[in-house]
Amino acid sequence: MLSIIFSCHVEPQRKSRDILYLKTFFLLFKKHAKKIIFFLMVGDDIKNEILDLIKDRKFDFSFGLHPHKVELNKAIAICTKSLGLKPKFISFGHWDYTDEMLSICAKNDIEIDFSYSAYKKNDTYFFKQPFDAAGIKEYPVACDPRIPINPLTSYYHFFLAMVLITLLSFSNKMLHLTFHSYDLIEQGITAKVRLFILLNLPFIKYGL
Ligand SMILES: [Zn+2]
Repeated sequence: MLSIIFSCHVEPQRKSRDILYLKTFFLLFKKHAKKIIFFLMVGDDIKNEILDLIKDRKFDFSFGLHPHKVELNKAIAICTKSLGLKPKFISFGHWDYTDEMLSICAKNDIEIDFSYSAYKKNDTYFFKQPFDAAGIKEYPVACDPRIPINPLTSYYHFFLAMVLITLLSFSNKMLHLTFHSYDLIEQGITAKVRLFILLNLPFIKYGL
């Protein structure tokens, strides 16, 4: 059975830098919490604010770390301190990382990185299966075949995701799709519809 993993980069809205929308954002996924890994942004202009906003919420979701312009060890420490839990998953800001950063992840017991993308690695593919890299597992994001497939920002990407799902539907492959938390606000109602179609397909195993 095909397994689909959604990674969501949880970030402030782009222009206003507002993060309060995240208070209601997570309620949208109550029924689908286990289908998505929410990568919580740490660093840049918001430091640990998103973690602080989330830690009191009684909401059972899979989370990972999403560092932006912050030293990696520091980001892991901030996450562990704020949530009282070590992150098991990571996705780097702008899909940018080195093998050295993966080694640091391995030393900190992070199990899976979700940042491998075609355009950053001088690669070309529509989907790629998990592989081992520098001591941890790498789950590459599906690409178009260069830029990560985000079914919320582009109808073409939504179509491509549906084609890939159809092609792979009776295989045991993994398909990693991605979106940003702010896409749900900025891309309008049809983006929500596209996402919820993809979250409710039959004969699919969702999540890890
Ligand atoms: Zn980001």
